[in-house]
Amino acid sequence: MRALSCLLLSSLVACVGFHPLEPSWRRGRPVEAAAQPAVTPWTTVGYSVEGRPLRVSRHGSGPRRVLWVGGIHGDEREGSVATAELPAAFAAVPGATAAVTLIILEDANPDGSANRTRGNARGVDLNRNYPASNFLAGKNYGDAPLDQPEARVLHDLILAERPDLVIVAHAWRGDYFINFDGPAGPMAELFAQRSNFPVKASDKFAPTPGSLGSWVGRTLGLPILTLEYLRGTDPEIGWANTRAAILAVILGR
Ligand SMILES: [Zn+2]
Repeated sequence: MRALSCLLLSSLVACVGFHPLEPSWRRGRPVEAAAQPAVTPWTTVGYSVEGRPLRVSRHGSGPRRVLWVGGIHGDEREGSVATAELPAAFAAVPGATAAVTLIILEDANPDGSANRTRGNARGVDLNRNYPASNFLAGKNYGDAPLDQPEARVLHDLILAERPDLVIVAHAWRGDYFINFDGPAGPMAELFAQRSNFPVKASDKFAPTPGSLGSWVGRTLGLPILTLEYLRGTDPEIGWANTRAAILAVILGR
């Protein structure tokens, strides 16, 4: 970022005495500058249709267990900065790591993100591929629940972790809101209080057969928040607008 800023400013000012593209070792400085963010310790928990890793990181060791899913629709990357910044922001909250175990699934649809498509590499909407009672078989939904490898990975992660709260980042064309399924009403209200995202109940926008929310919230009875950023929002702005609310629901207060 600094190098980029320097690059942009280099025609205006002498940029702190070194060429922005000069490698740090040549300047006689340690490669790891103090301001570098901590490297997130990712573990691969499965693979996509095209062989991309689905990666999980764990933060803290508290009894409250929260799963953050950075995205499931590949053309909705508005939550990507939130996913990247969350570990450091979480760790910086006093008492957070002792109160909460935060599990982050970086991206539930890495092929979609790479190809900028809603569905996975087979064109299946992974958010319609879960074994909820409202599952509908179809070309874009899968022939059967969990017939897509990415859906199975997240399914197995949730059953293994049994989180107290799941939060999934999405984006919605022309609107932004916090949606919930299962017993997540109080968490949705808390999110709304700490942001300008209104609460919108699932029956108020679109039918979502076989969605992750339907399965987690209604079949398993676990609280799940579906965070709908305004489609097209700069992910940096999205994070700034929801940082306090995300941390509040992770901590549950
Ligand atoms: Zn979505």
